[in-house]
Amino acid sequence: MPTVDNPTEKTLAELGIRDPLEVAAEFAKVRDRFDFQIALPADEMRKLMLQEAWLGSELDPATSLRNFWVGRKRGVLALISDNWLKPAPTVLKPVVGSELNKLKVHIEAKLEEKRLSLEKTAGEQASAKDRIDLSLPGVIRPIGSHHLVRTVMQEIEDIFFSIGFSVVEGPEIETPYYNFEALNIPEHHPVRDDMDTFYLDLPKGAPGPLLLRTHTSPVQIRTMEKRQPPVRVIVPGKVYRRDNPDATHSFVFHQIEGLAVDTDITFCDFTGTIEYFVKQFFGESVKTRFRPSYFPFTEPSVEFDVSCIFCGGSGTGASGATCGKCKGSGWIELFGAGMVDPAVYGFVNYDAKKVSGFAFGMGMDRLAMLKYGIDDIQVFFQNDVRFLRQFP
Ligand SMILES: [Zn+2]
Repeated sequence: MPTVDNPTEKTLAELGIRDPLEVAAEFAKVRDRFDFQIALPADEMRKLMLQEAWLGSELDPATSLRNFWVGRKRGVLALISDNWLKPAPTVLKPVVGSELNKLKVHIEAKLEEKRLSLEKTAGEQASAKDRIDLSLPGVIRPIGSHHLVRTVMQEIEDIFFSIGFSVVEGPEIETPYYNFEALNIPEHHPVRDDMDTFYLDLPKGAPGPLLLRTHTSPVQIRTMEKRQPPVRVIVPGKVYRRDNPDATHSFVFHQIEGLAVDTDITFCDFTGTIEYFVKQFFGESVKTRFRPSYFPFTEPSVEFDVSCIFCGGSGTGASGATCGKCKGSGWIELFGAGMVDPAVYGFVNYDAKKVSGFAFGMGMDRLAMLKYGIDDIQVFFQNDVRFLRQFP
């Protein structure tokens, strides 16, 4: 029940009102009271409604105020109708009825106005909360890039593509036959000492042995087994050796193998191809040379050198001191190569009397180190982003 003394709970007679003017004055007081309440800020209105015992826990103050005034049973208007209008003497009834109507129209209009303004405020608050600020910077997702070894691999591939080579790939787990024997490296050949490598632990009874390939050369054999000449392929890939890691050794590194076999390939085709590649890769100004060497699967075999790219082949650095990269020689050893040993053709059923060709095997990591001035092969495998970001 309302706690304050409320004139609308009494009849007009009880209030001592007998005159139409007094009726109008009493309605004016009620109207002022309503106008005052509806203009209150939300927290004040809440306090008032609590005080009037009208605020239900589920209701906001504005809804409570509405119920307080126009509620069907106990609202102020209902009380006026019950206590003022119904028991009014005949002489006052028309004026009470007319004042009540005016009051009702006034109250309902104001309540509606209030409701609309509250709705608008709530809508604005919600949309402010949801609004997307287009001026905020977005979430930056780091975009990866190619590893330097991959970039160099593509550079090398592009150069060989331009002169008619294609790419083939082979397995990284090999049989000793493909890794050694078919490449003219029989079981007790001393070259195997250098390639003493990673054999796989196989389950009992499994066909074996198997090893991680020590070079990409087995793919030469696999390719020639499948294709008849002419063959012009390059074979990029990972290879594995039991090397202790240091600045120039790693137990895993990358090679790119090349093989060209046809009916009339000469040593000139071979050196011309290699020279073309080296000049494309390091620049026109470099010189190349080859020295006799030995590989079991090429005959003759050579080591290709390139004029030192750090001192321009002079052997002395900018400071006048001996160039540390070529140790003063002016040359840097690049890779081994040679004409395919005719014995190899016997393993793949090529007619050694009719075909000839050349093969080469380059260390991709080493080429990348030379070209980009990197002095430690380990940085390729440590995946330190501070290094990787230098080669976007
Ligand atoms: Zn040098």
